[in-house]
Amino acid sequence: MSYETPASKNYEAQLRQVGLRPTRQRLALTELIFGAGDRHFSAEALHAEAAADAIHVSLATVYNTLHHFTEAGLLRVLSVEGSKTYFDTNTSSHHHFFIEGENRVVDIEGGPVQIGALPTPPLGMEIAHVDVVIRLRPKSR
Ligand SMILES: [Zn+2]
Repeated sequence: MSYETPASKNYEAQLRQVGLRPTRQRLALTELIFGAGDRHFSAEALHAEAAADAIHVSLATVYNTLHHFTEAGLLRVLSVEGSKTYFDTNTSSHHHFFIEGENRVVDIEGGPVQIGALPTPPLGMEIAHVDVVIRLRPKSR
């Protein structure tokens, strides 16, 4: 499932297309999220960015919007840090590096990540995604 979400697109039409009402706050957040290519971010970081851009939204609104975008298939959720959720504008299947200390998520670009046999999911379930997160830290000398 892939959506075109590059900059200078008609965000209003895109939101309608996935069944979301293009409120002013949603449009402003959409521009922030998709205006600069593929990226990974947390709700808190996006909220801070919005504030710096004089977009007045509560953190709860940011959470709600991200939840709706995810449901609509515009974003993918990455759970990297137990409690912290990161969102990814690239909804295709791909893997990530997580840089410890910087709390930064980066795509693994076409690297050879091989996954062996996967477990059989419980009855009535199927595997939706396999997310590999490889944690990085600076080499200790
Ligand atoms: Zn990614």
